[in-house]
Amino acid sequence: MSDVVELTRELVRTETINPPGHECRVARIVGPRLEAAGFEVTKHPMAEGRDSLIARLPGNGDRPALCMTAHMDTVPLGREEWERDPLGADIDGARLYGRGSSDMKGGLAAIVVAAERVAALGHGEAGLELVFCAAEETGCEGARALVDAGALGKAGAVLVAEPTSNYPCVAHKGVVWVEASTTGRASHGSMPHLGENAVFKLAPAIAALDGFSFGGPEHELLGESTLSVGTIAGGVNINSVPDWASAGIDVRTVPGLEGDEVLSRIGELAGDRVRLERIVDLPPVSTDPGDPWVAEVFEVMEPLIGERPEPRGLAYFTDAAALTPAYGTPPTVICGPGDADQAHQTNESCSVPLLEVAAEGFFEIARRWCRL
Ligand SMILES: [Zn+2]
Repeated sequence: MSDVVELTRELVRTETINPPGHECRVARIVGPRLEAAGFEVTKHPMAEGRDSLIARLPGNGDRPALCMTAHMDTVPLGREEWERDPLGADIDGARLYGRGSSDMKGGLAAIVVAAERVAALGHGEAGLELVFCAAEETGCEGARALVDAGALGKAGAVLVAEPTSNYPCVAHKGVVWVEASTTGRASHGSMPHLGENAVFKLAPAIAALDGFSFGGPEHELLGESTLSVGTIAGGVNINSVPDWASAGIDVRTVPGLEGDEVLSRIGELAGDRVRLERIVDLPPVSTDPGDPWVAEVFEVMEPLIGERPEPRGLAYFTDAAALTPAYGTPPTVICGPGDADQAHQTNESCSVPLLEVAAEGFFEIARRWCRL
């Protein structure tokens, strides 16, 4: 079995479900491997057991590094029963099964294996900066902590190995998460006139969001911004008038829609009685498809995926939403071996051949960047 498949299996068997995360477990596997290959490795804990990891291979010149990035956490298993052990990394035919196989331990493994091969060639004009983040699934918390701590170096391009079935994509949406809440006055449920019902205050605001559109011109690759209400809660028991209620609103933005406008547009509909708090606000990523490095990535990936890539965008967000602006907005490509439609699914799996293809493609992209 090839190195990238072996490493993917080892990482899938290493549980990093977020919450709580325990990303240090993955860092303990890949850190020493990369050190042995000649990388300088630093760990950046955002909390106990929740390391992000940066591994640097220095270059000889002033040319900035290529950043290759992946997250180390996975989403929970969900309520549905799995047909296979979600931490077993079983291989059946051409598929490898387990939580995180597509999103995105396969991508992480492909970066590590490709980076080791590049390091074995020596030092080129540019180096590599591998950024493995904790807590992506809860709003890029690990990546944001790295940015806030000033832990990043210089990068002239960013490759994100999130699942795209190895199709190189040049844009993804941003995200604004908003908590909408109301307060009231509690009373006995049999005497509602003595209280003030927080649920009745919140409900019309949430109902008004059904079918809401931000309008504005569509982005040519990303389409339009979207809004969904993901959670709603309120009260403590059935026989009390609730004195609180809250809802979580998930907005996915395209370039041109900023977090401030998202808040004010929701506020216009929700009215004064609803308090809005921004929990996460990360911008979209959009790289000029005519950028020379993008053309080079397309050229490398074309024979590997068997078709000529066209500029495409993705609805989901990635750590690039935090990392790319912090690097000064270098060209950014999202390309990884997982299948996007397998992410967060029960019975998640990934394609074994696509793991090999990704490792090969990443090696060639990194080799050319480093001019080796
Ligand atoms: Zn992911």
